[in-house]
Amino acid sequence: MLAKQAVSVYNLPRKHFKEPSMNPKIQEHTVYAYAKINLSLDILGVRPDGYHEVQMLMQSLTLHDTVTLKIRQTPGIFLTCGESSLPSDSRNLAYRAAALFFHTYALPYGAELCLEKKIPVAAGLAGGSSDAAAVLRGLNEMFGGVASETELSSLGANLGADVPYCLLLGTALSEGIGERLTPLPPAPDCCCLLVKPAAGASTKQIYTEYDALAKTTEITHPDTQGLLSALSAGDYRGLTSRLCNVLEPVTVHLVPEITTLKETLRSLGADGVLMSGSGPTVFGLFSSETAAKNAEAYFLRSEYAPRTFLTRFYRREDNI
Ligand code: ATP
Repeated sequence: MLAKQAVSVYNLPRKHFKEPSMNPKIQEHTVYAYAKINLSLDILGVRPDGYHEVQMLMQSLTLHDTVTLKIRQTPGIFLTCGESSLPSDSRNLAYRAAALFFHTYALPYGAELCLEKKIPVAAGLAGGSSDAAAVLRGLNEMFGGVASETELSSLGANLGADVPYCLLLGTALSEGIGERLTPLPPAPDCCCLLVKPAAGASTKQIYTEYDALAKTTEITHPDTQGLLSALSAGDYRGLTSRLCNVLEPVTVHLVPEITTLKETLRSLGADGVLMSGSGPTVFGLFSSETAAKNAEAYFLRSEYAPRTFLTRFYRREDNI
């Protein structure tokens, strides 16, 4: 599933609403954009249009970016972003999401967005998709829910394959190219330690290299049915013993320290370890908070000192 290429938001159909729903009900609003990890990532094939058919067990995390939205009485999107490596114009997914929302519903207003990034960029944690989802959700709330959940999800799918999931959140199975979502019972509560090597990974490059690898190598696929059964039984060990991501061998080839980080996490007491998405972030799941904190302290002390984030699973019913 290569992330969808940016479409011009202005080529998408507009949907006009009756006059009363065009007024913002809230002038200023702050929303959170949650990171996600993949508890599994499988590629089932490549469609004729080049998109990868995936099957992924998704889990959102309490680690989040923060977006503050302010309505302007005149059209135009103005984005400020604390992360200097990211653009503040229409190349930023948060900007694109806002532009798409105002255009689709023909709203004669604009918005100021202030994006505070905490989720590392190009890390396999869907930071950009999550920012886009948060902006769509936030603006929809500000305009009194003009869009239904289904409409918001299909708007999101125009921005990126993971955006519909980032609107749903929690534990879910993502299939097709990311548009077919099945909400699942919440995964057992645990601590999740993210460890991010200095290198970034280009999702496009990883998927392309996967295609080449799959032609010549036997790939180990996740036991998705086993994972789903473990989830319904609330079986933490069943879950942690089945973590699997078919993209991991590809990214390991480009970022070899992933292997060392996984081994270190395991030796520090993680019950399960895996690379998230197309990487290179690696996560360890811990039933013991003390072990997770000690593991984080170990990485912070180490000479290598990768970026670490100690976080937990976010559930749909958590309202934080
Ligand atoms: P995915 O797994 O969905 O491909 P990722 O977690 O690996 O995503 P992101 O942090 O979403 O990576 O960034 C992917 C690319 O999107 C980056 O190269 C970045 O330039 C671009 N981008 C655009 N807007 C944003 C944003 N608001 N936050 C992060 N990246 C963004």
